[in-house]
Amino acid sequence: MTNEILETSLRRRATAVIPGGMYGHMTRALLSEDHPQYVTAADGCRFTGADGREYLDLMCGWGPVVLGYAHPAVRRAADIQAGLGDCVNGASPVMVELAELLVETIPSADWAMFAKNGTDATTTCVTIARAATGRRKVLTAHGAYHGAVPWCTPGSSGVTAEDRAHVDHFEYNDIASLRRAVDRAGDDLAAIVVCPFRHDVRQDQELADPEFARAVRTLCDRTGATMILDDVRAGFRLSLGGSWEPLGVRPDLAAWSKAMANGYALAAVTGIGALSEAASEVYVTGSFWYSAVSMAASIATLTELRETDALSRMESAGQRLRAGLDAQAARHGFEVNQTGPVQMPLLTFAGDTDFSVGTRWAREAVQRGVYLHPTHNWFLSAAHTAADIDEILERTEDAFAVVSRDLGSLLSQG
Ligand code: PMP
Repeated sequence: MTNEILETSLRRRATAVIPGGMYGHMTRALLSEDHPQYVTAADGCRFTGADGREYLDLMCGWGPVVLGYAHPAVRRAADIQAGLGDCVNGASPVMVELAELLVETIPSADWAMFAKNGTDATTTCVTIARAATGRRKVLTAHGAYHGAVPWCTPGSSGVTAEDRAHVDHFEYNDIASLRRAVDRAGDDLAAIVVCPFRHDVRQDQELADPEFARAVRTLCDRTGATMILDDVRAGFRLSLGGSWEPLGVRPDLAAWSKAMANGYALAAVTGIGALSEAASEVYVTGSFWYSAVSMAASIATLTELRETDALSRMESAGQRLRAGLDAQAARHGFEVNQTGPVQMPLLTFAGDTDFSVGTRWAREAVQRGVYLHPTHNWFLSAAHTAADIDEILERTEDAFAVVSRDLGSLLSQG
């Protein structure tokens, strides 16, 4: 079977045995036909699709891969732990070591609990906040993603009004709207949940206004509500101690996942000492929440992030990419918006409200071996060298050229 046929055959077989052929963020509906859906191997900042082609990657497994695929130190730690035991009747010593490492690394953390996915972590934060305050209302920003369970999923299918009865919304970066939501909750406000910057899908990203971040803290202090920072997506990529550390704003609880174990399945909740009793009283657990391999991988990942210049290399790679894409866009007569931190970039085309130009550009990039997304932020890793970025840019140059050539017909179709 040739590789081209492997990708096609997997898609066909999946249609018979996987609902919708695929679901969630990997559903085909959100990607172009040219984005490979199956991957056969990955190393550093490259992967091989089931279509047999090698791709330079700008999505990093949708975030978790912060040091590069198959990072040797992380693999070694995971392999050693796999030989000792992963899912056993009791936790491994690495659980305590990892909790200690998180407490040492994150100034707002006096303790840590572990789970598997970001949704586990955000949901556990909300449960702890309600347990600690004895209140019900939870505020989140309109359009923010905090997971895929009824209280927060962006979908509505299978969700009842009661599931979200106590969830209300404010506009990100809008202090007046936040104040109004706090007022509506009155003395029943349990928590404000907020992401470190606005990274809603199909939107240009928006960094947090430091005034807004401080207002979240102040309003929680004033009302006795719990401040929850959802650092699932941005955590350990921007600032090791938490993404609002540079702003001097510390949460009461923080949710972590994606990058913390370089692709091994792990999530964490960290919190301040005052919430440790409430955290010990809620009943949250999972069959795999104590598994040791991902914890060993996380210790290796965090150690690498702490002891090397991985974060600053990632930032430099991001700056190089942003500058290169800006220059290319200008050369080809496009006005583009590059938003968010350079390590988690997104490029959209000005005026491209239906994303037809961006989708076509992303598709052209994929055809040239650069995997990126038109409407969801991308992720860089410490494995992206300047040479890799230059190689990416050589290919995106051609993608801009083709889209520029075909723009007239694209717009008339739109
Ligand atoms: N919060 C944020 C900010 C996220 O980006 C995500 C995942 N994209 C989640 C929560 C949920 O994480 P998971 O998909 O691992 O459950």
